[in-house]
Amino acid sequence: MKFTPTTTLFFFCAAALANPVPAPTIVSCLTDGGLNVEQSPNWQTSTTPFNARFHYTPKAIVYPTRTSDVSKAVQCAVQHGVRVSPLSGGHSYSASGYGSQDGSLVIMFRDMTEVSYTGDGIVTVQPGAHLGDFALEIYKYGRALAHGLCPHVGLGGHAGFGGWGLSSRNWGLLIDQVVGADLVLANGTAVHISPTENLDLFWGFRGASPSLGIVTQYTMQTHEAPATVWGLTAPKEIGIVANVWQGGKDIEMAGYYMGNQDDFDRVITSLLSATGPPSATYVQERGWIAALTEADGGAPLATKGTAEPHDTFYAKSLVVPTYSPITKVALAALVQYFTTAPLPANMSWFIQFELWGGGNSAISSVDARATAYPHRHHHWTCQFYGRTTASWPSQGTAYVNGLVNSITDHMQGTRFGAYANYLDPELAGWREKYYAAITRDWQEFRRKLRKDDFVVIRNCPPVSKMKRFKLETILHSPEAERELQKALHAEPHQQ
Ligand SMILES: Cc1cc2nc3c(=O)[nH]c(=O)nc-3n(C[C@H](O)[C@H](O)[C@H](O)COP(=O)(O)OP(=O)(O)OC[C@H]3O[C@@H](n4cnc5c(N)ncnc54)[C@H](O)[C@@H]3O)c2cc1C
Repeated sequence: MKFTPTTTLFFFCAAALANPVPAPTIVSCLTDGGLNVEQSPNWQTSTTPFNARFHYTPKAIVYPTRTSDVSKAVQCAVQHGVRVSPLSGGHSYSASGYGSQDGSLVIMFRDMTEVSYTGDGIVTVQPGAHLGDFALEIYKYGRALAHGLCPHVGLGGHAGFGGWGLSSRNWGLLIDQVVGADLVLANGTAVHISPTENLDLFWGFRGASPSLGIVTQYTMQTHEAPATVWGLTAPKEIGIVANVWQGGKDIEMAGYYMGNQDDFDRVITSLLSATGPPSATYVQERGWIAALTEADGGAPLATKGTAEPHDTFYAKSLVVPTYSPITKVALAALVQYFTTAPLPANMSWFIQFELWGGGNSAISSVDARATAYPHRHHHWTCQFYGRTTASWPSQGTAYVNGLVNSITDHMQGTRFGAYANYLDPELAGWREKYYAAITRDWQEFRRKLRKDDFVVIRNCPPVSKMKRFKLETILHSPEAERELQKALHAEPHQQ
């Protein structure tokens, strides 16, 4: 057969159609960068969040092992216009680590869990570490930190919006113990932030880090682990929660005291003289790890190799200002509500009143404008949690809202806040409730950042839509300083 130019051309085109050169995709960008990527319809395990009410299907999941992997992943996402969402322990109340919508690139910190004790009380930890494993690891060096109660919660999300535990009145929120961090910004640049480097970012990071970028490592100042733990101008050594359970007739007060027995006896006697004698008491002297285990309900702190827990729930929070304690009328309305309102089938609930503030609390002793954490002048954080072992009942959300409204309807003049770690995706007026106290400082902070054209980090709830920005405006080089001055006198960016 004689090949004419036409037939040659025909064969060339046919070959190209049979083997088209694939267009670059986000997945090829990630794999070409040497990243470990999962993209499969059968990834049920990786995409099942703690709260079974939600399910989002990511575009792909990437598993970084170092900061530069996160930078590369963000750059690929920018290139392909895909939203990015970091996920550490996966315990967000609304599965926000999956991006709160389908189609995100999820940066999952499963393989970044390293904890290193560097001496002098300083520890570095990667965001995928779980609270329980972290507590056990630093205790090997006789060290401890204040943080939340559940062993499977991840450092990355927990430290993002505060991080409260029973030792927080003594040592502060988890963010108050952070002295540095590595952060990947929305343009993929990695920066170190600390009280002496990138101070603006360090401010915003402590209280709203998911609005700024992706944390790849924390540096924290630990404390000597107390030898014994027992457990209202309460001394700061006391951490306390009052729990009300559905069907229960009692209020359970639980907590611990970080000090000696004589002091504990004195403190608890004075507290009980105000509340009246309890129907039952249980007081034990514990070491630090046993106290943490008991506070989380007895589950082992070590999470490696254990099954990930799940729940099906809707939760809300009320952060109660110090100037306006919950009134007796409001409490009576709450009791009236939960003793009379019909409870949806298959549903149970609990309410946890957590003592955060008070004159002696380390949380309140931090200057209200020193960090982006917005609730320094608040006494209690109350959590209202409805759950089911079946599918979520249609009236379940309304029931939980009713618990909260029974209080707020009777305290109309009080500006309650909400705690972003107890994330409520249906909260009306969430920006005000999560962030009101820092809004002015945040606007000023944003004015220092150079405006760019799109948002890439997808997180919930953002303080404001964070624009991609150039790092040099944050670094205090002479040019950056000039830029900063210009930006400071420019109009605020549109959100
Ligand atoms: C059973 C249980 C018990 C809890 N107990 C407490 C408690 O005692 N005290 C308390 O304060 N809170 C408590 N919480 C709330 C908990 O602190 C938050 O849900 C927290 O955000 C979970 O963090 P995570 O890393 O596990 O979740 P994820 O779902 O992985 O992340 C939560 C959010 O943070 C973002 N994020 C995650 N990693 C990073 C990162 N590296 N950089 C930037 N952003 C990131 C995610 O995108 C997401 O928006 C509890 C939650 C549960 C489910």
